[in-house]
Amino acid sequence: MISVIEARDTILAQVSLLGTERVDLFSALDRVLSEDVYATRNQPPWDNSAMDGFAVRAADTLSASQSQPVIFKIIEDLPAGYRAKNKVEAGQAIHIMTGAPVPEGADTILRSEITERLDHRHIQLSQPMAPGTDLRKVGEDILDGALLLPVGTLIRPAEIGLLASTNRSVISVYRKPRVAILSTGDEIVDVDDEMEDGKIVDSNGYALSALVMDTGAEVVRLGICPDTQEALEQKLREGLSFDVIITSGGVSVGEYDFVKLALDALGTTMEFWKVAMTPGRPLAFGMIQDTLAFGLPGNPVASMVTFELFTRPALLKMQGYSNLYRRTVRAILLEDINKVLGRKQFIRMQLQQRGDAIYASRTGAQGSGILRSMSLADGLAITHEDQIHLKAGDEIEVMLLGGFSDLANNRNC
Ligand code: AMP
Ligand code: MG
Repeated sequence: MISVIEARDTILAQVSLLGTERVDLFSALDRVLSEDVYATRNQPPWDNSAMDGFAVRAADTLSASQSQPVIFKIIEDLPAGYRAKNKVEAGQAIHIMTGAPVPEGADTILRSEITERLDHRHIQLSQPMAPGTDLRKVGEDILDGALLLPVGTLIRPAEIGLLASTNRSVISVYRKPRVAILSTGDEIVDVDDEMEDGKIVDSNGYALSALVMDTGAEVVRLGICPDTQEALEQKLREGLSFDVIITSGGVSVGEYDFVKLALDALGTTMEFWKVAMTPGRPLAFGMIQDTLAFGLPGNPVASMVTFELFTRPALLKMQGYSNLYRRTVRAILLEDINKVLGRKQFIRMQLQQRGDAIYASRTGAQGSGILRSMSLADGLAITHEDQIHLKAGDEIEVMLLGGFSDLANNRNC
């Protein structure tokens, strides 16, 4: 048997970045930048007002007090988007709007609230002001020529804004993997097919497709393949135009488990592992020509958990992500749990936040066919191979599953 970490590291060592493509700004959301982006100008481009108010010379305000206010004459109204026509001289003010360039001569802004209007051309001020008050300095956000976003940056809404601010409407990002999903088994039928006796619906094909989409990759379902080596080899060949093929089922050592044979017949570097984990265990991984192949187990929970541990990090690495793993939290166990010695068990957990602490309890029965346990789960407790008894009150590590935003309200949004 191979450990989870060994299997994962062996897989990731064989995964390389995909190529790059140029996309428009909106298509760049949640993608990874594949070029360094430099600032093309200062931001702000010039000193500008941070407030609606009056641009004046700070020196003129120094003698201002409650008993002896200073009076300014308003010489111009300046909206954002325009330069002042006049220079601010002693005793003068320009009525300025937020974002407008600070006029020549002025070095401070009096926000409207601290001034008193005497008439439509005069204001008075009852306090001294430091130079630079309520003024945004040229380049305080971004300096011209600075490295703004390095290669490898994940593009979130803030980065979309930054790219737009440097006039970049097209941007180079790493390509999305194209992933083919193949479900196997004589008993498997598609979601709208007639349900004859003995058949079950291809829930794996859909759950795995959704997991692939959740990584940002593109997915195509190759459908359902019966348990014969010829049919499987033919379907796998169809998958060779994709970056990744994921199969589910047929990787055990049963009489009808032909996926191993078919993968082996086509693949040059296939590895067939018994991974020391629950749920999961049988797993195939390797390259078929230039296509990465994952043979995941058929049991619905096992296929999702092995995807989470092995396939998801690979798909993220191909897209340029450096953070490949789900976030984990420390939680306090609410019940005693016995586990199998020698296996890393991933226990489906519900989490509750109480004060500063997070508490974890099982979702119920943990069979690898019980798909509802994944639906109920906020995360997977990560146990160690050498543990047997976990006790109520123990601190455990829980890997959060996707879509998790608020501990208290995961399923009640
Ligand atoms: P296998 O690994 O092919 O022996 O399958 C193990 C279990 O998972 C069996 O009970 C299968 O019926 C079930 N299974 C296999 N493929 C799927 C699928 N695509 N959707 C739902 N269940 C499946
Ligand atoms: Mg099967």
